Amino acid sequence: TIEKIDRSPESTARIPKLSGNDEINDLATQFNAMLDQVQRYIEQQKEFVGDVSHELRTPVAVIQGHLQLLNRWGKDDPEVLAESLAAATQEANRMNSLIEEMLQLTRAEQVEQKNVQEVTDVREVIMQIIDNIQMLHQDFSIMSDIEMDDEVSVRMNRNHLEQILVILLDNAIKYSADRKEIHVSADSDQQQIMILVQDFGMGITPANQQRIFDRFYRVDKARSRERGGNGLGLSIAYRLVKAYGGQLTVESVEGSGSIFKVALPVIRTMNTSEPTDKSKS
Ligand code: ADP
Repeated sequence: TIEKIDRSPESTARIPKLSGNDEINDLATQFNAMLDQVQRYIEQQKEFVGDVSHELRTPVAVIQGHLQLLNRWGKDDPEVLAESLAAATQEANRMNSLIEEMLQLTRAEQVEQKNVQEVTDVREVIMQIIDNIQMLHQDFSIMSDIEMDDEVSVRMNRNHLEQILVILLDNAIKYSADRKEIHVSADSDQQQIMILVQDFGMGITPANQQRIFDRFYRVDKARSRERGGNGLGLSIAYRLVKAYGGQLTVESVEGSGSIFKVALPVIRTMNTSEPTDKSKS
């Protein structure tokens, strides 16, 4: 029977159960599980390529349209020239940011915490990112409340923590409404550091809360596009947090705002939990 199996990687054929040999059957089970895994991976890759082509189609079509306009009228009509050049440039920039974010997503998927030795000071990174974002959005007031023990930190690449915070703060700003306020808080316990990013904007319905971490998912495509969103930010953040053994979750009420929560496992830089000599004796 084994001879008849279709060996192409896309085949759904599996090794059948053989009678009377447990060892071979165990091996077959393991092998079939591996085939399932490979197949899932292939499906995911196919889906990704499909999604990417779909996402690139719009900017390419827009650029083509403007090139045609330029070709026809651009030489004689300075207004068409200026407008089409600006629009085509904007689309090219959008494609650029899409490609950059896709690379970030791929890199996020490849992060393996066991290979990371870097110890990152969460408090310092939060303060620095708030400073940077506040500078860029002076109409917002970004408040922070950090109540973390001094000796806790995380074992993770500093860039990755920065990336996660930038994504969450950028979104909080992008999807805020009249109340231009962002609250960032952080605290820690024995196991984890919790970082909360809260906005008072449009909020997210429960159904959409399930989907916003999927790549390319946007609640309101037009609105997100208008704000330069590719629908990849949260999937990058989600994968990064996961890669470090943490969790990224959301709580939100439509019309009142959202809280994104990052939980990361802590390490203690100073060993304060060891019993002292006195308590030992
Ligand atoms: P985008 O580039 O579109 O912002 P994200 O992956 O970062 O992509 O977010 C996916 C979608 O989740 C957004 O398009 C938006 O609809 C929704 N979203 C993300 N953050 C917030 C927020 N703070 N408030 C409301 N909606 C949000």
